[in-house]
Amino acid sequence: MQFCPKCGGIMMPAGRSDGKIMLKCTRCGHEMVVEAAAVSRDFVIETRVPQEERVITTSRVSSGGRRRARDLEEWEQEREEYREILLEQLQQELEGGEE
Ligand SMILES: [Zn+2]
Repeated sequence: MQFCPKCGGIMMPAGRSDGKIMLKCTRCGHEMVVEAAAVSRDFVIETRVPQEERVITTSRVSSGGRRRARDLEEWEQEREEYREILLEQLQQELEGGEE
């Protein structure tokens, strides 16, 4: 997620050219251009679960080591899917953003 340097509002993708993305502030309309790769990376960071949460999840299902391993695996998979969905949405936003 990108935030507006002026007002701190959320910057949404508003266009793209030559591997760069134009972001527009939803609050004040301030525009800035960033590398597309940088935006994708931010989205990945956004979906990462903090280390502590992960530990809590692990201890909560600690009855039976086999089950815990499977749950963790499923969770990893869900996280991957979630990330893919986010990136897909970003892609659609950029491709269909010329209304
Ligand atoms: Zn702003």
